Amino acid sequence: LMNSLQNARERTLIAVKPDGVQRRLVGQIIQRFEQRGFKLVGLKMVQASHGILSEHYGELRTKPFFQSLLTYMSSGPVVVMVWEGHNVVQASRKMVGQTNPAEAPAGTIRGDFSVHVSRNVVHASDSQEGAQKEIQLWFQGKDLLDWDCCDQIYTIEV
Ligand code: GDP
Ligand code: MG
Repeated sequence: LMNSLQNARERTLIAVKPDGVQRRLVGQIIQRFEQRGFKLVGLKMVQASHGILSEHYGELRTKPFFQSLLTYMSSGPVVVMVWEGHNVVQASRKMVGQTNPAEAPAGTIRGDFSVHVSRNVVHASDSQEGAQKEIQLWFQGKDLLDWDCCDQIYTIEV
């Protein structure tokens, strides 16, 4: 019991990037996580600074596209969310699809809504450790809500 409850508390950071916001895809992207059975525990719209983006994408610092990535990600508001649920990190990566939308199958967010790697609509943490770091970077603890979703005894095994 403890174990499945703890697994059900796994969290990940999902962000609708500026292209997704401009193209009015926020609702459809949120809908996919809701309908899968995950629980929204934090949400905000922000104009991201290069400072927070440099930290968020720190591992890509040496890539040739790093500066253009920061320009893209700060070109307009982003919608940053924390989603919670069983296996949510891995499941979200599958729902989002490969980094390059050309490789992302139809049915994934990137496969359905994007064509180029530089405008791929959505971010999802790639590991539980990465998720923890990203959540701490973007959210203060008080802005993440612990709440009981009325259908959770039917969406997770307890
Ligand atoms: P993700 O975890 O699937 O988002 O992929 P990465 O962590 O490898 O890269 C972060 C983001 O950098 C991607 O989502 C893209 O927006 C961008 N990116 C990755 N590779 C490329 C590239 O080759 N060219 C450009 N322009 N952007 C890239
Ligand atoms: Mg990544």
